[in-house]
Parts: sequence; structure tokens; C-alpha cells
Amino acid sequence: MNGNYRIETTCIQGGWKPKCGEPRVLPIYQSTTFKYDDSDQMGRLFDLEAEGYFYTRLQNPTNDAVAAKITALEGGAAGMLTSSGQAANYYAVFNICEAGDHIVCSNTIYGGTFNLFGTTLKKQGIECTFVNPDSPYEEIAKAFRPNTKAVFAETISNPSIVVLDIEKFAKLAHDHGVPLIVDNTFATPINCRPIEWGADIVTHSTTKYMDGHAMAVGGAIVDSGNFDWMAHAEKFLGLTTPDESYHGLVYAERFGKGAYITKATAQLMRDLGSIPSPMNAFLLNVGLETLHLRMQRHCENAQKVAEFLAGHEKVAWVNYAGLPDNPYHALAEKYMPNGTCGVMAFGIKGGREAAVRFMDRLELAAIVTHVADARTCILHPASHTHRQMTEEQLAEAGVSPDLIRFSVGIENADDIIDDLKQALSV
Ligand SMILES: *Cc1c(COP(=O)(O)O)cnc(C)c1O
Repeated sequence: MNGNYRIETTCIQGGWKPKCGEPRVLPIYQSTTFKYDDSDQMGRLFDLEAEGYFYTRLQNPTNDAVAAKITALEGGAAGMLTSSGQAANYYAVFNICEAGDHIVCSNTIYGGTFNLFGTTLKKQGIECTFVNPDSPYEEIAKAFRPNTKAVFAETISNPSIVVLDIEKFAKLAHDHGVPLIVDNTFATPINCRPIEWGADIVTHSTTKYMDGHAMAVGGAIVDSGNFDWMAHAEKFLGLTTPDESYHGLVYAERFGKGAYITKATAQLMRDLGSIPSPMNAFLLNVGLETLHLRMQRHCENAQKVAEFLAGHEKVAWVNYAGLPDNPYHALAEKYMPNGTCGVMAFGIKGGREAAVRFMDRLELAAIVTHVADARTCILHPASHTHRQMTEEQLAEAGVSPDLIRFSVGIENADDIIDDLKQALSV
């Protein structure tokens, strides 16, 4: 759908398509259940033989309209919402992995995902090998095993702002017969569409830029429909052999490009839950309508802030791919020519203690456990999001003890810079 619209138009018009006389604005279907006239109609839904709604834990029209918009924005074949970004990344992997399997993952990822893959999935019998995403192809290739089922990475890593070489990762995954899953939370489809560079599955914490106003926690999974499960049938038995919990249907045969998302909905949502409330999906949709405008302003403001910080004597280093001397500048130019995101990392001279003192002096920039919304905010990962990690794990994740994560909002850039100036001046 929306194949002919440009991305800005899809932000506004994608998803909800009212028929004659229906509400212009996406309605909130705040209903757990849906009514049918006879028992057989309902039965066919349970057998996945007919399409329709029966229980909001599996599907809801408000949620589906928003999932359809995000799917169109990413250029995917099918998509679904989840109640959080964590749930999205968990389902994206667990949909094709089970006990005894293995995944390869970039080591520069969000702390929550690092815990999920490194600790919680391990308890479920799924092992994860973390690799340095900047290593050459041959080096990363050594991490693959016969039981590897997926490769995972973030387009722009949170919080270390490493830009992923998506084509290198896609080749690594495909040469080993597995899909590439990319968490595109920070770039958003406005600045990068990983599927166009070979990613098979894209995930989001919609909590961040997509919502954009820090109103609703949420997640999304979009499948490109490009990965040929049947060509690797022996690896992905959940998709390529009969599902006894649905009378023996084979997802990859029955649902084609929709197989992966249908399985995630029919099995994982059915059994594990994690559906967003329709109200939250509605709020997310309001955010999506201005995503293209906000991302542009986030990037413009962040560029100015990064240039200011880079020129300040008390600032030890700035990591923002928009700066020409940044090691990821070339990758950013290739994959995100219109800008990366509003988030940057920097360190101030004096290390961990100086970082904390500086943060406490800020007035406009608020200390919050959040990132990537309209309001400028700041966080010190070593004391906050990443505090469970050892110094060694921090170093591997590219998070130095002095690293400050600064999320530039869409206020006037000069006010943001004035605030930084006064906090640095003491
Ligand atoms: C925040 C975040 C997540 C987790 O999302 P929640 O919505 O907080 O569960 C996953 N990946 C990235 C890159 C994030 O920034």
C-alpha cells in the first residue's frame, strides 16, 4: 500500500483509510472483543482461515492501522506493533529461534537489548555472540555457527552513536543463510530505510522519535518479506514445518511474504501477550504524522550543538556522525544523507565526576531516562541505563565512563546551546 506516495505523505496518509462516511481520524477501537453473527465465522478466525478481529491480544484495528503506516514507511511487506521496543526485539528474535539456537549481535547496542540477548535469552537456551560491528567481514564471520539463526544490529547505536555498515551486515547474514534484523529506532525511516540496504526485518522502539513526545512506550516489527525461509527450511522449522497449534498449517507456505509476521502474531502474541493498548497506538499515530518534520529539525539542531561542543575547550570529545572528522561520517553520508538523528555522545574534561557536576547545572536540558523526543534531555549511561554492566562490558559496548548521551530536542538551537554554555562555564 501507499507505494506511490513519498515518505512525508505516508507519515500523514498511511495506515488508516476511511471508507465513505467513516471517521477521518483513526478511531480508537477501545474494545477487547469483536462480535460475530454465527459460531462458524468465529471458528474460521481461530483456524487462521479467515481474516478478522476477535481478541485484542492478537489484533486490533487501531493497532493494525498504525502498524500498516510504519510498514509503509519502512517499505516492508507486513508489520505489527508491540507494547515496547523490548518486546519488539524479543519477538523479532524469538520468532525464529528456540532453545539450542544462536544469534550474532553487534556489541554496540542499547543496554536493555544487551541484557535481553546476553542474559535472558541465554536462560531460554538461546546463545548470543557479540561482535564489534566495525570489525572486517572475515573477523565477524568467525562468530557464526551451524545453529546461528539471525544477525542483529542497530542502524545508529544507542548510546554510542556507531553507524552500522548495513550492507556488510546483510552480506554476513545472507552468506550464512540467516536474516538480518536491524533496530532502526534512532535513524527512523525518515533518515534510513534498512530494507533498501538488505536488512530483512526492522524493529523499533516507537517510544523514541516515532512517538516523539514521550507519551507512550511502544515497539514495532516490520518484515521485508524478502527472506526466503523455504530456501533455508531446515533452519527455520517454526516457519517451514506444520504448526500443530494451528491444525498443522505451514506459515511459509500459507502466508508467503506475511509468514513471519503472521507467526509472530498467531503464536507469540497469542502465548506471550505484549500488545499495545489501542490508546497508545493512537498517540503513536499522532506522533508519526509529524515524524518527517521533527527529524529534520532534530538533525539541524544536533548539527549546531555538535559543532558548538566540538569547539568548546572543556569538551574532551564529541561523537556525532554529522561532524566531518567523525569516524562514522562516511557511513552516515552513504546510509543517511539527510542526517542521522538528534542524539550525540560527548565527554567533558575531568571524566565521570565532571560529567555529573555538569549535568546537574543544566536548566533546559532535563536529566531523564529517555532519549529522542521533542524535549532536549541528557543521561549518563555509566550511572543510569548501563549501570548493570562491568567496566569491561562498558568498554566493549563503546560506553566510556565519561560518556554523556545528549538528545537534542526541537526547541530553538540557540537556547539549547546557551544552556550548555552556562553549564560549562563554571
Ligand atoms: C529504547 C530502545 C529500545 C527499548 O525500547 P523500549 O520501548 O524502551 O522497550 C530498544 N532499542 C533501542 C535502540 C532503544 O533506543
